[in-house]
Amino acid sequence: MHERIVATARRMNALGINQGASGNVSARVEGGFLVTPSGIPYDDLQPADIVHVGMGGHATGHREPSSEWRFHRDIYARRPEAGAVVHTHSSFATTLACLERNIPAFHYEVAFAGGNDIRCAPYRTFGTQELSDAALAALEGRRACLLAHHGALAFGKDLDDALRLADKVEALARLYWQAIQVAEPAILDDAEMAGVVERFRHYGPR
Ligand code: 13P
Ligand code: ZN
Repeated sequence: MHERIVATARRMNALGINQGASGNVSARVEGGFLVTPSGIPYDDLQPADIVHVGMGGHATGHREPSSEWRFHRDIYARRPEAGAVVHTHSSFATTLACLERNIPAFHYEVAFAGGNDIRCAPYRTFGTQELSDAALAALEGRRACLLAHHGALAFGKDLDDALRLADKVEALARLYWQAIQVAEPAILDDAEMAGVVERFRHYGPR
């Protein structure tokens, strides 16, 4: 699992959704989760740098855990379906987050995140319990959110699933940003989006 976390972090660079040493990646394991260390650029990251954090917050490893270990921990505690969490400062998602804008149902794929919008959590200082609390509220009924004046957060059943959603959030943010340069796009109605959420439950290879 250590290697898979390093590989996922490196794929964030390849996908262009990482900015320097910002962002972090974790995966649920027995008794807690494994998370990227704080402040180490992903190109330099080694499997031995990955830190185990127990659900009580006790960290084991020779590096400091990500400063955002609290929101990783709280997602695993409150969302049993979460197997992995990816946090990015990807540019278009972060642009909208700096404008404190939710991403509304301007495109049906917004439903990938679980509902008819991707909410933007209010600004709180990075690494705090207050940020985690704000993020968990914005994730109610969703698998992704924006963090005002900060970045984006996505979780999934495993690392690939969480990374795919983080990348999708960035793509949707970019499309929304492009659309609003021209006009405010029409928004799909709640009944349509509820139907799309349901279709996504059965979508994909069997
Ligand atoms: P870490 O390097 O401590 O994970 O912090 C990066 C970050 O994105 C803080 O929000
Ligand atoms: Zn961050």
